[in-house]
Amino acid sequence: MANETTNNPKVDPDEILEGIRAWVEIESPSNDGEAVNLMVDKVETDMQAIGAELERTPGVDGFGDILTARTPWGGDGPGILVMSHLDTVHPIGMIEDILSWRREGDSVFGPGIYDMKSGAYMAYYAYRHLVRQGKQTPLPITFMFIPEEEVGSPTSQAAIEATAKKNKYVLVTEPAREGGKIVTGRRGSARFKITVNGVPAHSGLRHQDGRSAIGEMAKHILFIEGLTDYERNVTTNVGLNSGGTGTNVVPSECVIEVDMRLPDMEAVDEFVPKVLNITNIDPDCTVTVEGGLNRPPYKKDEGISALYEHAKGLAADIGFDLQDMYTGGGSDGNFTAALGIPTLDGLGADGKGAHAHDEQIYFSSLEERTELWIRLFETLE
Ligand SMILES: [Zn+2]
Repeated sequence: MANETTNNPKVDPDEILEGIRAWVEIESPSNDGEAVNLMVDKVETDMQAIGAELERTPGVDGFGDILTARTPWGGDGPGILVMSHLDTVHPIGMIEDILSWRREGDSVFGPGIYDMKSGAYMAYYAYRHLVRQGKQTPLPITFMFIPEEEVGSPTSQAAIEATAKKNKYVLVTEPAREGGKIVTGRRGSARFKITVNGVPAHSGLRHQDGRSAIGEMAKHILFIEGLTDYERNVTTNVGLNSGGTGTNVVPSECVIEVDMRLPDMEAVDEFVPKVLNITNIDPDCTVTVEGGLNRPPYKKDEGISALYEHAKGLAADIGFDLQDMYTGGGSDGNFTAALGIPTLDGLGADGKGAHAHDEQIYFSSLEERTELWIRLFETLE
């Protein structure tokens, strides 16, 4: 590689956008493993073309495969882990419908373009840019492509943690926000499924024999919702609720699903048991609680601060001001930061409308942020 004639490719935002388009046009909803795997095929082919060493782990539980792509240099010694997810929240067909590929001024629309195919592509492009110049980075780089981040990475978490532990830094290609800010902290999240079983009865004839599972659950819902504490940045949401078989039947079953967000481990230790320890109020009802902490809180510590300052300096050299922020939403960065590995998140494109029908990136953010990726690869050691 070092002996090859060095050509001097330029970072071309139009070329970046063309590449993003090819990735966005392969729609890849998390729960459609086959669709996600078409996307994995594409990334595998693109990575193969620039000489990356590939490893593909077959998906489980109907999800897509996990793909890792490693630089052929540096062995598997501690390096940079680039985390991307290839799934999106959008169902198949959005690209022919409300999220058709289109550009309006600086905004470019498409399903998953902002969260996070543009970020994943920019990191790939940055690596390709270095390869084209015959350059090697001081540290080896491992790209990890996750098939089901949008549903909480249930089948990838262990692999993410195992790979992260072998690396010095983690860079996450989730979208930038609020004018290009990157993310250096996220709340953790817990998920619970709660089932109440009561006693069914005819509501007209034998009402007194019944024990309403919905009535019992209603009390628990009020308790759970009441745990929200904005001052401590703890929120709970009973997002799904189902039960009952008919208006004239005392319901024998009710199921809810709950999302809880937590700023730090102290809050985790205090609030998660409050839900796990819920027990029946009516002695004739039973309550079963499943779940617990899903993504641990991601807190800006010394290592993260130092990595952020380094990135900020690089951005200043490129010509833009890089700011950071704390956000409520989780990502795979939560897993790696909780392991104590310096993690920067939100390094993808700037834009807005994640998960929404107006999902878009700002074309003007592509060049400078791709430059930042290149400089991070070149300077981290
Ligand atoms: Zn995302």
